[in-house]
Amino acid sequence: MAVATPLPEVQTAGSRTMRAAVFHGPNDIRIDTVPRPQPGPGEAVIRVTLTTICGTDVHILKGEYPVREGLIVGHEPVGVIDELGPGIVGYEVGDRVLVGAITPCGQCHACLSGHLSQCGHGSGFEAIGGWRFGNTINGAQAEYLLVPNAQANLAKIPETLTDEQVVLLADIASTGFSGAESGEVRIGDTVVVFAQGPIGLCATAGAKLMGAARVIGIEGDAHRADVARRMGADVVLDPTTTDVVAEVRRLTSGMGADVAIEALGLQETFESALRCVRPGGTVSSLGVYSGKLEVPYEAFAAGLGDHRIVTTLCPGGKERMGRLMRMVEMGRFDPTPLITHRFPLEEIGDAYRVFSNRLDGVLKVAIRP
Ligand SMILES: [Zn+2]
Ligand SMILES: [Zn+2]
Repeated sequence: MAVATPLPEVQTAGSRTMRAAVFHGPNDIRIDTVPRPQPGPGEAVIRVTLTTICGTDVHILKGEYPVREGLIVGHEPVGVIDELGPGIVGYEVGDRVLVGAITPCGQCHACLSGHLSQCGHGSGFEAIGGWRFGNTINGAQAEYLLVPNAQANLAKIPETLTDEQVVLLADIASTGFSGAESGEVRIGDTVVVFAQGPIGLCATAGAKLMGAARVIGIEGDAHRADVARRMGADVVLDPTTTDVVAEVRRLTSGMGADVAIEALGLQETFESALRCVRPGGTVSSLGVYSGKLEVPYEAFAAGLGDHRIVTTLCPGGKERMGRLMRMVEMGRFDPTPLITHRFPLEEIGDAYRVFSNRLDGVLKVAIRP
């Protein structure tokens, strides 16, 4: 990817520009000097103190997920309130805040019926409508970030928590946990989690927290398998050397798993997830698919097996972020082992290279503007 050489900048106290990672086209995200955002009614501007790169950002970089040229990328912000627009109450400039990757308006039909991620921005429903940062509006890989519907989305960070302890809650922990929550994991369940990337690892931790007796991780990378055990997997099966469906059946005395969480987004893993669950079991899908997704009739008992297939987009909003921060604060969940690399914003090109090519055992990178 192209990364512009930073020009010497004279930033005075009143400077209204900032540095940001801007999408210019496929394989071209670079750091530019752009105008700083200003908050309108109901909005806030935060000074970003920590962010990260998501797998989705890599799809954007490669041109596989279309966004407009000139968009600032990134959707995982931790920061300090810099400016508040009119109408925001209960916050002050200087408050440390976490903002979820999904920023529901809190007022539309989708939000008010509990489907915050499918937010319709004031009315109705819009599929994936809650995902705005680095998708339809400027994102978090920048020095400053405009937060829409700030009253619903600024989650104050407890003093006891560091930025690195909370940055992964914005997306991957919220998404991973939601795989277990939407799957309605019960005490005593056997749960299979397909792929132990950052989201799958959080799904593994989430299944354990929900009360699973046994969590079976599916992962071919030995390093990720080690981290999976650390995050709560009791067994990790290598799909390159093991017939995972047969092995899950063997481990469950022929019954099959209660819940399978799909965290990769491939036909193969979706299908294996379905083949792993017992009749009446649940496939909880987190993966992002492209093309056509097929359900083979025999794995699905021809549609008569009481199977449930559920999908979830990362839950956002301040209430969700508050819940996740309490889990970290009370020592119930520690996302920090997933941060393996750290870069300043100016070197985000290197961060994209390491993260997108999975170099050097990388799981997640921390980006400090
Ligand atoms: Zn993401
Ligand atoms: Zn809404």
